[in-house]
Amino acid sequence: TSLNKRAMSCFQTKAYINGEWICSKETFPVKNPANGAVIADVPNLKAEDAQRAIDAAKEAFYSEEWYNMPAKGRAALLKNWSNLIEKNRDEIAALMTAESGKPIAESQGELTYGNSFLDWFAEEARRVYGEIIPSPLANREIMVVKRPIGVAGLITPWNFPLAMITRKAGAAIAAGCTVVMKPSEDTPLTALALTQLAEEAGFPKGVINTITTNKAAPIGNLFCSSPDVAGISFTGSTEVGKLLFKNSADGIKRVSLELGGNAPFIVFSSANLDVASDGAIASKFRNCGQTCVSANRFFVQEDIYDDFMTKLKEKVQALKIGSGDQTGIQIGPLINTMQFNKVKAFVDDAKSKNSEVVLGGNPRKDIGELFFEPTIVANLSKDTKLYNEEVFGPVVSVIKFKTEEEALRLANDTRRGLAGYFFSEDMRQVFRVARKLEVGMIGVNEGLISTAEAPFGGVKESGIGREGSHQGIDEYVDVKYVCLGNL
Ligand code: ADP
Repeated sequence: TSLNKRAMSCFQTKAYINGEWICSKETFPVKNPANGAVIADVPNLKAEDAQRAIDAAKEAFYSEEWYNMPAKGRAALLKNWSNLIEKNRDEIAALMTAESGKPIAESQGELTYGNSFLDWFAEEARRVYGEIIPSPLANREIMVVKRPIGVAGLITPWNFPLAMITRKAGAAIAAGCTVVMKPSEDTPLTALALTQLAEEAGFPKGVINTITTNKAAPIGNLFCSSPDVAGISFTGSTEVGKLLFKNSADGIKRVSLELGGNAPFIVFSSANLDVASDGAIASKFRNCGQTCVSANRFFVQEDIYDDFMTKLKEKVQALKIGSGDQTGIQIGPLINTMQFNKVKAFVDDAKSKNSEVVLGGNPRKDIGELFFEPTIVANLSKDTKLYNEEVFGPVVSVIKFKTEEEALRLANDTRRGLAGYFFSEDMRQVFRVARKLEVGMIGVNEGLISTAEAPFGGVKESGIGREGSHQGIDEYVDVKYVCLGNL
């Protein structure tokens, strides 16, 4: 399960513009968060390189070959790409674990999940249906078609180095767009491996371009200001999302944003506590708590509080922490020093405000610099960081509540609204709470909900637009009305 760079056929350390592999004088290192070792150096590209990629993507978009390619052709390319990723599954999973730190079982899981978007969008490519709408005039037809928007700029994070790329690029390509991808500086190698496999899959030059950099801002600015970038799809922090949204205003650009969440996880009295505690582990500890749909605030009804906490504690205690390339590990390192410091500061802040540390609460420097033990903190006061912000780490923050109304009020008392989870065996309560929870996605008696078939996205400040599902294509098409008159 360890990375063997030499044996790996898609270990790629160059960037990719217009069908060519690009070096640059300046490079930056990609490190393994489990031990700090440098895995590779990759090109540190600048805005002018991104401009060349945009030019190439524009030319490819209007090329005879791509512009007129039937959906079935794009579908076949996406399917080729997905087959090649599957064929290189073990190597890519090892690479993902090396650069992101996630346990190997989760990298394997991400490979399946991420690749399912290419399969799904290969199928959906042929179903980008228009409409014929009954006209109010006898001699007219109202025809509505969907056309690709053009070049899409895709900016992706480190927590799902593969899936965030396939979820965006799969939809964009299915729609007929061409793309410039800017993966996270923490995990560019998975993106480059995927790019190499895209080349092998037979995408025409310029359709897929991948630029690596550790100075994202100038390239983000270029994506926002360039009239040749028709749309931007971004997954990452709320702060950067807002910046991209603002900077795209001048060009009235299509912007699709998947930003931070602050997911409530509510356990009602009627819940099956075994199911609820399993759901808690699944939704909290995947990728060491570093997912935007991770449960962030646990609300537990008072009469089952002690029972739930006992079960939860047992399950958290059993989690195995260590380097992700070892079998059986469930908790890897945090991605970088910044995230590590943030998690530690949040827990220290709660400690200083008299919260109860039920379990854990400390770094595990004995394993490595970036490890933090699975932690449960209870009795949080409202002025703690854990209560108010997304921790993005292996910390369960628990708050006791009395009534359903109170739980809903607390859960909705945030400007974020990505995912939410609740556990209840009371059918009427299930429908009531599902209706009132202000989030884009809800897990009812379920901690893991994301799948290619369903729309992924948030409300409030958690984002705009949806990914996956047939809705995912809408981000990359314009609706065009054609009036056929004087018939
Ligand atoms: P996080 O690291 O918490 O996921 P970021 O928003 O910093 O969140 O990173 C997500 C992606 O956004 C990464 O690819 C990163 O390089 C990129 N990014 C960071 N700052 C900017 C920016 N100013 N413009 C465009 N992209 C950016």
